[in-house]
Amino acid sequence: MAPPAGAAHWSTEQLASFLTAMALHDDAERAVECALAAVAQAVGAAFVAMVTGEEVTAVHGAEGAAVPAESVVAAAAGGLPSLLPGLGSCELLVVPVVGVEGTALVAARRGGAFEAEELVLVRGMAGILGLTLRMLRSVEADRRLRARGEAQAAENEHLVVILQERQQLLERLFEIQRSISHRAPIESVFDAITKGAGLLLGDGVVALRLIDTDDPGYLRLVACVGVKPEIVEAIRRTPVGQGVGGRAVAQGELVIADLYEATSRRFHHFIQDGLHTAMAAPVHADGKVVGSLLVASYRADRRYSDAEQYVLLSFAEHVSLALNDANAIGAIRQSYAVVLHQATHDPLTELANRALVLDRIRAALAEAEATGEDLSVLFVDLDGFKRINDSLGHSVGDEVLIRIAERLQGAVRADDVVARIGGDEFVVLCEGLSDAGTNAIAARMSRAVSEPLPVYGHSVVLTASIGIARARTAVQAEDLLRDADVAMYRAKGLGPGRIESFDESIRVDMLDRLVLEQSLHRALGRDELRLHYQPVVELSTGRCVGAEALIRWEHPQRGLVMPDAFIQVAEDAGLIVPFGAWVLDEACRQRAAWERDRRCDDSFRLSVNLSARQFADADLVGTIEGALERAGLTGSALCLEITESVLMDDARLTVGTLADLRALGLRLSVDDFGTGYSSLSYLKRFALDEVKIDQSFVEGLGRDPDDEVLVRAIVSLADALHLEAVAEGVETEQQLEILRSLGCDRVQGFLLGHPAPVHPFAAGARSGR
Ligand code: C2E
Ligand code: CA
Ligand code: CA
Repeated sequence: MAPPAGAAHWSTEQLASFLTAMALHDDAERAVECALAAVAQAVGAAFVAMVTGEEVTAVHGAEGAAVPAESVVAAAAGGLPSLLPGLGSCELLVVPVVGVEGTALVAARRGGAFEAEELVLVRGMAGILGLTLRMLRSVEADRRLRARGEAQAAENEHLVVILQERQQLLERLFEIQRSISHRAPIESVFDAITKGAGLLLGDGVVALRLIDTDDPGYLRLVACVGVKPEIVEAIRRTPVGQGVGGRAVAQGELVIADLYEATSRRFHHFIQDGLHTAMAAPVHADGKVVGSLLVASYRADRRYSDAEQYVLLSFAEHVSLALNDANAIGAIRQSYAVVLHQATHDPLTELANRALVLDRIRAALAEAEATGEDLSVLFVDLDGFKRINDSLGHSVGDEVLIRIAERLQGAVRADDVVARIGGDEFVVLCEGLSDAGTNAIAARMSRAVSEPLPVYGHSVVLTASIGIARARTAVQAEDLLRDADVAMYRAKGLGPGRIESFDESIRVDMLDRLVLEQSLHRALGRDELRLHYQPVVELSTGRCVGAEALIRWEHPQRGLVMPDAFIQVAEDAGLIVPFGAWVLDEACRQRAAWERDRRCDDSFRLSVNLSARQFADADLVGTIEGALERAGLTGSALCLEITESVLMDDARLTVGTLADLRALGLRLSVDDFGTGYSSLSYLKRFALDEVKIDQSFVEGLGRDPDDEVLVRAIVSLADALHLEAVAEGVETEQQLEILRSLGCDRVQGFLLGHPAPVHPFAAGARSGR
């Protein structure tokens, strides 16, 4: 593949995309692979190999495998045979991988000789490969150090480090390019170039000269390092061709003066000063020589090795690159900035991502350790966000997240870092804030989130649970984040919209919960679960027409544990499905035994509570069928109590499952009616049998007129939809009387019987009232 015309331009673009591609590697082997493939493609080589010392360390191109390693090594060492065993007659190009000890790239091509532009291009690529390998090495060293310090950083954080380092390098090159193209006060830029060359080669004297645009026969000294002021004056403007630098311009090639005083057209100032050795490389722009970069030494033993010659050429090419195409580096820099941004930011909200905020927390911790300043990490989690996604769709959900991100950003100080680290999880880092200041920011964020949010014609009202962790001592960033997360979890447990700070008691609670979870795992196997039954009484007849089965856990040490203390834990631990299956089995068994003992007739309905998680279980219908079958019951013996949230959560799943359950003859009841959602549409959508009026409404009957209005409304709504109304938590005669007057069908509560492990009639269900 021959390079198209306008090779200088072409090279620049090739280098730009190559640089971008290399930026994505965080693994040396893959970077080398990618580099060899790119070189082969750029110059149409049959194969490209990397040689380190006496060894071929990598090969690209199938034909390369046929060439003996010794021949490749010999080629790299400068033997340059035009006949390679296994490949035949070919052209060879050897270029050092600058900065990587004893390493070179060898490219072999059949046919046409390599052109100067191709040499420039491959040299540039090898230079970039060298930079990449050096950077990866320092990252690797850094990684080992971290590993020793036991701070295992995540993979993408390493990528961030690499990208940041490369970005810095590009920033420096860009600085050079920008100043050149803007004709800005460029001293500082050229200083950067000369300093860079000096650093790379370790030489005392560096000089950059460019052709005077007003008088092309002369060179202007634009920057230098280590040249005495009086000499600077003398060589400020010199004819092209004079001095080593001037000759590099005139000849358009690398010029070396091992013994400066013996060289032709030398500067006598330098000789008087005792300069010993010099070397200069031409700088190109638009394919023409426009200047030179010179290094020189006063040391008598100074000789420039091949590798060092390449370093200078390579560095001069970086300058050329900048001069060649003012936009190229800008474009590279841009793409680096984009890659870096992508690696550190959340694409939806443009906030920092987890890797970046952890990085910032780490830095803040290091600083806090030095200054003693405080820092706070806040963990913000939206309450019920899943509901929005499920009911209004993901595009509304995304829009909500974007708006919330803006609001959070608006609620904190300009220097605070706001990050999105997961679906609806945000993290905020604040430095130098007292406890009170942190609480104030948390409260501000909480208020900002709970403002009604208009999206796509919907008004969404959200709250956030916020957890706060404060760095008192030098803890790890990950620990601080986890503590804030734990505090958030506690906040959420207390209800929506809460703010909690992490403290030791939370850690103790978490431990407690962990212990509880552990023993809960064994509860089933150790036969520690029990069912208690609470009677359900028909108001018109006073008969006990059914019962609700309520789970208990007989803990060997804690005694009888109530469901509120362990159902949530069981759900989180993934135990609710087996627990629920046990409840169904046991309830069916008990119900069949009662009927067999003639303690109830076949119209007696036993109610069982189902949790949302069970509903998501594809096997639910099968589990229920199995339980009924084993007990020899039909579906009419059972009523399933489902909370409103289940009916709202995933409408499609629920319709299908509910239809299957109804086909088994089961009755379906809406538990805790009135506490969940304002939407009543599901009452119509699903074929249901009863609503259970929540205890919180029943409680106020006779005391709070509002509650009476509500209960009356629910009863008549149930009536209109042909649903039975069951009132829960009836504790007083007065409540019972009011419910009777409102036309409620059935009642349940301590007044009529407490849940007990025995048959509801025995538990004190009052009949005949
Ligand atoms: P729930 O379904 O609303 O059950 C009614 C709760 O109110 C029961 O609490 C019951 O003991 C209590 N209760 C009944 N009458 C009165 C009264 O007059 N006054 C007062 N203050 N309370 C009364 P329990 O047994 O502690 O159950 C709590 C919750 O645990 C249940 O609320 C239910 O959501 C859940 N649960 C119980 N058993 C199971 C089960 O087997 N599976 C699942 N998934 N959840 C269950
Ligand atoms: Ca219930
Ligand atoms: Ca209930």
